[in-house]
Amino acid sequence: MIKVAFYDTKSYDRDSFAKLAEDGKIEFKFLDTKLTPDTAELARDCDAVCVFVNDTVNAEVIDKLYGYGIRMIALRCAGYNNVDVKHAYGKIHVTHVPAYSPYAVAEHAAALLLTSVRRIHKAYNRTRDFNFSLNGLTGFDLHGKTAGVVGTGKIGRIFIDICRGFGMNVIAYDKFPAQDSGINYVTLDELMAQSDIISLHCPLTDETRHLINSDTISRMKKGVVIVNTSRGALIDAEALLEGIKARQIGAACLDVYEEEADIFFEDRSGHILNDELLSRLISMPNVIVTSHQAFLTEEALGNIADTTVSNIMSFFGNGGMCDNELCYRCGNIEECRKARKQKCF
Ligand code: NAD
Repeated sequence: MIKVAFYDTKSYDRDSFAKLAEDGKIEFKFLDTKLTPDTAELARDCDAVCVFVNDTVNAEVIDKLYGYGIRMIALRCAGYNNVDVKHAYGKIHVTHVPAYSPYAVAEHAAALLLTSVRRIHKAYNRTRDFNFSLNGLTGFDLHGKTAGVVGTGKIGRIFIDICRGFGMNVIAYDKFPAQDSGINYVTLDELMAQSDIISLHCPLTDETRHLINSDTISRMKKGVVIVNTSRGALIDAEALLEGIKARQIGAACLDVYEEEADIFFEDRSGHILNDELLSRLISMPNVIVTSHQAFLTEEALGNIADTTVSNIMSFFGNGGMCDNELCYRCGNIEECRKARKQKCF
């Protein structure tokens, strides 16, 4: 029996994962708490840990887990910016779920965009109060507008297809443009200057941190709509707020926020929010915030559970081999064992 400490468990995780443990080959120790240096010890009697986007998997946590004999960290998400993958090299193998439903995220980005530009969030509240006035609800057509898509991977490309369906002109920037994709690639500067809507679909790296900042905002079209369903720290939230206050930014649709780790996924109603910046952003009439919800569809949850369990079973049953192990970028390309279909270390 493989025992897995399952951190930051929510009811929807329990529903989708528990049924995969019914055959008795795997046992989940469901924990409400996030993984941090203080909570790592809860995994002491386990073989692996299963973590999500806001768990802390830094060098200190990795060393503790390694000391407890943990040999696998199974991420139940695609992004892994919260894991010190380099520090894990030689100690603990890390796997992720590279794709579970790119449609879920791209469709959520489109939902946020439509809600924002047609003021649906305002209309919903009004009509519930039998206020049928249209004053202040004027939106704009997406048809004919220019969407700038940063990151043309799985999610970005689906978002591009959706935008094309609306008759939008789509331009894109990617550090590694897809060949023969029919995507109209431009430089990042051109994208910032020409887009009516900018949607972020690239990973968070040192290079992309604060990609949207006071400088890039000053070079955008006045009234630009910014959509972020990728990672919060792609945007300097203070600069975003200033851009909104200066009327340079027309609207912001945020499914992610730089300091979301201690706030999102929890019911904080009835509490005073200690994050002034997020409170101020939420109070803006042209900002819509969802709580890292873009992945949350039945299809995505089912795929996440299936792939995570399959990663764990193949790691422990296949001599440590797992197709979804993250590349540690050890730099030794000629000697890369994984490329030769061997265990990474
Ligand atoms: P992907 O790996 O398929 O695509 C990412 C793209 O970004 C690639 O084409 C890559 O070349 C490009 N890229 C890399 N570095 C770049 C840079 N410096 N500038 C511009 N482009 C760059 O990933 P995906 O499945 O499309 O996911 C995209 C992001 O969405 C993930 O990194 C994750 O952070 C986020 N995500 C969010 C949710 C959510 O619930 N909100 C769910 C899943 C994924």
